[in-house]
Amino acid sequence: MASALVVSASLFAQQPVVSSQLSVVSKTNNGSAVSEQSLKNTMAKNGSSEKTQRSASKNGSKGAIANAKAIHESALVIDTHADTTQRLLDEGFDLANPPAGDPGHLDLAKAKRGNLDAEFFSIWVDPEKYKGEYAHRTLALIDAVYQQAAAHPDKMKMCYSAEDIVRTHAQGKFCALMGIEGGHSIENDMGLLRDYYRLGVRYMTLTWSNTNEWADSSGDENDANVKHYGGMTQFGREVVREMNRLGMMVDISHVSDKTFYLALTASRAPVIASHSSARAITNVPRNMTDDMLRAMTLNGGVVMVNFYSAFIDEKFAAAYKALGPEKKQAQAALDAQYKDADDKTRALAQQKFDIEWAAKVPRPPLSALIDHIDHVAKVAGIDHVGLGSDFDGISFMLPEGIDSAADLPKITAELVKRGYSAEDCKKILGGNLLRVFRDVEKMRDTMAKEGAQAPLLSRDKGAVQGKKQ
Ligand SMILES: [Zn+2]
Repeated sequence: MASALVVSASLFAQQPVVSSQLSVVSKTNNGSAVSEQSLKNTMAKNGSSEKTQRSASKNGSKGAIANAKAIHESALVIDTHADTTQRLLDEGFDLANPPAGDPGHLDLAKAKRGNLDAEFFSIWVDPEKYKGEYAHRTLALIDAVYQQAAAHPDKMKMCYSAEDIVRTHAQGKFCALMGIEGGHSIENDMGLLRDYYRLGVRYMTLTWSNTNEWADSSGDENDANVKHYGGMTQFGREVVREMNRLGMMVDISHVSDKTFYLALTASRAPVIASHSSARAITNVPRNMTDDMLRAMTLNGGVVMVNFYSAFIDEKFAAAYKALGPEKKQAQAALDAQYKDADDKTRALAQQKFDIEWAAKVPRPPLSALIDHIDHVAKVAGIDHVGLGSDFDGISFMLPEGIDSAADLPKITAELVKRGYSAEDCKKILGGNLLRVFRDVEKMRDTMAKEGAQAPLLSRDKGAVQGKKQ
């Protein structure tokens, strides 16, 4: 791999990283991604979780189970990534009235059973399928979430801020939020970015699996046919700054490692990884290295662990990869068969196909997922870990025991078994995300006080022209 970019060790502070305080240096043989002091700080933070584990009662008894249940039920549980949105739009799926026996991961009843209080609905636009109409598809997905909230005002509500989540939760309603997955949705246009913010979008992953015209993705970083930018273009940096100014969380899930470090230097507010796991345990480019996790500590951000089997278990990832060519062929046949079908018919055929193919590889144990949460808690710190399920976006590949949002209490039960205190569990279940959301709002207010203006370069014409080449 090319020399990794790392955040300069001298800049490690406990405060959210301020771009003016940051520089980016190339990693050298003797250059470490983190300073000794920062390591100590991280270890001290993590110590609290280890201490809790040591002092935790060793009884895996009924008492502990009841305790875990009580902890889960009293927590404000926030999941930062579900792809259910496409079901809403393409299948006409209704969160309050799912078909009998629906295999999906999320509906209002499942959320209630799992005490899931808030969901960030992913606004993901397939970059191939919707070429030339990214904004239109983005708006249609946003509308689909609003339509659900409008149809079930007694059960769910659109939320736009950290305080909104707290208030709506207190009213006993399910909180619906939105995050854009893939910077291509803004079509290189700051005006569209602002429009999405006005419509309630509160995070955006700088890329999806595709490199766009201003930021590199981990999904195609080794594809020589794709034009890369060594992380991000100047326009990309300005997108990050504009997100800070608006109060939209910068999401680094899916980006390349270089983009990650550049995003940290560009962002004045803490960032999130809405659905990313740990590369030290499962070595895939979509996961985060320990250096990246430590950089998140210093940035003050939060890593929401992805539940996808291929991201949390190497054995599963290898077995699934081995199916690749055969599955690709079968997928092509399915696509051909349903080429002219309506969206719903096609989506349901795809669902059946995904379930069949997921069943070909044994599911990882639940402990694999907990290992990732535990690892991020240890390396980044207990204040920097959360849940980003990727429900309904992972082709039905979830660890054993987790079939839907209704099974979230099992995660808390496992954390309690491993010695996590009630306080630690609540941070993981939603507290950490809420803190970062508030910090991002504070930076928005700070920048407003400073008189920060919208960037002059509203649309990156260079990038648009580049697209035509
Ligand atoms: Zn994703």
